[in-house]
Amino acid sequence: MTVEPGGKIFPATKRSSDVLSILMSECSRRGVEAICNQSVHRVARADSRFIVETGTSSYRADVVVIATGGASYPATGSTGDGYHLARELGHTITETAPALTPVMVQDYAFADLAGISFENLPLSLFRAGKKVRQVSGDLLFTHTGLSGPGVLDLSRFILPGDILKVSFFPGIDQEAVRKQVTDAIAGSGTRQVKTVLAGLPLPERFAKRLLELAGVTPDLTCSHLPKQARQEIIASLTGLPFTVLRLGGFDEAMVTRGGVALGEINPKTMESMIVPGLYCIGEVLDIDGDTGGYNLQAAFSTGMLAAKSITGKYPSRS
Ligand SMILES: Cc1cc2nc3c(=O)[nH]c(=O)nc-3n(C[C@H](O)[C@H](O)[C@H](O)COP(=O)(O)OP(=O)(O)OC[C@H]3O[C@@H](n4cnc5c(N)ncnc54)[C@H](O)[C@@H]3O)c2cc1C
Repeated sequence: MTVEPGGKIFPATKRSSDVLSILMSECSRRGVEAICNQSVHRVARADSRFIVETGTSSYRADVVVIATGGASYPATGSTGDGYHLARELGHTITETAPALTPVMVQDYAFADLAGISFENLPLSLFRAGKKVRQVSGDLLFTHTGLSGPGVLDLSRFILPGDILKVSFFPGIDQEAVRKQVTDAIAGSGTRQVKTVLAGLPLPERFAKRLLELAGVTPDLTCSHLPKQARQEIIASLTGLPFTVLRLGGFDEAMVTRGGVALGEINPKTMESMIVPGLYCIGEVLDIDGDTGGYNLQAAFSTGMLAAKSITGKYPSRS
């Protein structure tokens, strides 16, 4: 196992399949049988037991755990079935929506810079002219919009029409940045503006694009730079505004917001307070968190609580 800066933990091999093998071999050691390629269509109550129906078979069970994940990234198998199964058994499902998504913005000018990323930038969110949130995080330009951990985390709070302002200087007082760039341009008379910008800690192609956006030709010298263009460049460096058009859909979202209402689940055991013997764990619940393992942790922790409760009630299953 390796622990990266920021506390991210990976298997030493960096292969997710190794985590799966460990879990599967532990299951087999404990006599757990996994039946694959059978999608559960219906779970019904019969006396005090459950009938679980798949397309091809029907199973009877004392205990059922809904662990079907959310509705995001359906290609991985989580298509939102758990919400229907839980609803049919009487549970309330709070409104679901994609979360941790890329952000699509108006007049996106960085599609051809896809892959360029920045670390730990100040990201500020404005709604109706008011700053509603500020975080620091990594940003990635994609072919279609903005992504990266900082943007994904902030996406949980973003609405279409919001303005996202990005400063490209992490951890520095923005007023100091303004002064530094203004002084650099003012003191560089016959040097080209692009040469002065090349001295800043920015990817070269990005700096060039900012100049294009400010209407500055490649050979323009600092002494010929109009005041308005200078102010525009500085404003872009310290708070480039992006107007949000829309957030990514379920096919791009890493997690799903909303789900089985937490008020109907015992938080100590994850057992339903409506249907005894029914458990809900992981992302099917109305839980979503930032990137960085919080969603996986929620899935593992709720799974552990349910397992402890079930093996406590049915010792033969431990
Ligand atoms: C690209 C991507 C990156 C992510 N990165 C992070 C990250 O960095 N950190 C983090 O914390 N989280 C991350 N997540 C989210 C995290 O993977 C999920 O929150 C977590 O896997 C949820 O676990 P779960 O067991 O509840 O559901 P899932 O892992 O979604 O598992 C649900 C399982 O149920 C099966 N299933 C669904 N319906 C049925 C049915 N009707 N019958 C039978 N089986 C069914 C599915 O096939 C699937 O195998 C990421 C997700 C994606 C897609």
